[in-house]
Amino acid sequence: MDNEQIKLLDKENIMHTYSRYDVCLTKGRGVYAYDNNGKEYIDVSSGIGVNSLGYCNPGWVEAVQKQTAKIQHISNYYYNEVAGELAQKLTKATGMSKLFFGNSGAEANECAIKVARKYSFDKYGSNRNHIVTLKNSFHGRTIATLSATGQDVFHNFFFPFVDNFDYAEADNIDSLKSVVTDKTCAVMLEVVQGEGGVNILSQSYLKAVEKFCKEKDILLIIDEVQTGVGRTGKLFGYMHSGIKPNIVTIAKGIGGGLPIGICLVDNTLKDVMGVSSHGTTFGSNPVVCAGANYVIDTVNNQDFLSDVNKKGGYIKDSVLKIKGVKSVRQLGLMIGIEIDGNVGDVAKRCSQEGLLIITAKTLLRMLPPLNITYEEIDKAVGILKKVMEEN
Ligand SMILES: *Cc1c(COP(=O)(O)O)cnc(C)c1O
Repeated sequence: MDNEQIKLLDKENIMHTYSRYDVCLTKGRGVYAYDNNGKEYIDVSSGIGVNSLGYCNPGWVEAVQKQTAKIQHISNYYYNEVAGELAQKLTKATGMSKLFFGNSGAEANECAIKVARKYSFDKYGSNRNHIVTLKNSFHGRTIATLSATGQDVFHNFFFPFVDNFDYAEADNIDSLKSVVTDKTCAVMLEVVQGEGGVNILSQSYLKAVEKFCKEKDILLIIDEVQTGVGRTGKLFGYMHSGIKPNIVTIAKGIGGGLPIGICLVDNTLKDVMGVSSHGTTFGSNPVVCAGANYVIDTVNNQDFLSDVNKKGGYIKDSVLKIKGVKSVRQLGLMIGIEIDGNVGDVAKRCSQEGLLIITAKTLLRMLPPLNITYEEIDKAVGILKKVMEEN
């Protein structure tokens, strides 16, 4: 199929909920993706942080293929070896107690919201069900997670939304304290607001939130859907500050390219969700879990994670030398670039020149594969420089 045929199929048959770049990807290897004409793209967006080990990483492909040929799906009525192994790896790595398997970030957050409200209902009755989230956050596209998302642009058309989400200023403990009431059961936040523009919350703020929540028996939910699984140079972003959340949600990068969402809970919450209180058909799918086992085995390694930090710092230093770059926000390989000029235009020009880079609000955003090499970084930054300095 040529590019025009692929675009036509999309235009005629798929709801236009996304504006697309003029790019048709049909094959990928490592940090490179290709269209059917053989045009090569270096991709520093990784399918929005999903392909954490790049396209078609051989070890990941092997794990997935082997599992597909062994048993491809087991309903949740039966025990599942692969899911059990993944769960144990994640609870051990985080010190959390138990987890629930879903299929996406939004679903992981839905589970977190249900756990928080159920915990509070069991302990305090039905009136303590408010959840405080942060302005400029992003938590997903279901009705409940849109409600949790602290951005007015997401609160349109689909009324009624879910009640009792309250929004505080990000990185401002006084704002949080003023929004919390005796009806608040949880605070939910991203340690780096990804979609909101790579907004890195300070460690002192996170510690203050943790302390304040503990005093009031308010659960702290950390949405690690974008920041998790090595992205920020620690296994989870919250680990930079040493806080201990009650609930952690992950998705995107843990699957290495297959759909998965996970809600981890601590010891106090491990029995809050009883039989029949929650479920999802595809959750804990063994093929997906086999891929995720490969990802966590690769990423949960001190040398690997310190390389993520070094490479992130290297990208920041390189990008700061480009004319027109005003500042860089960077934690590990989560990178936001503030520039003179329109980021949409720059990202589009980059795609024409063979670099796939995305945007977040008014910033350019890079979420490269965690195993990107320095040569590949130089190549990607070279294309960005060319495009920026032509502008
Ligand atoms: C992407 C994202 C989500 C939503 O994940 P989906 O898999 O698209 O449902 C939620 N929270 C954060 C922080 C995200 O980046």
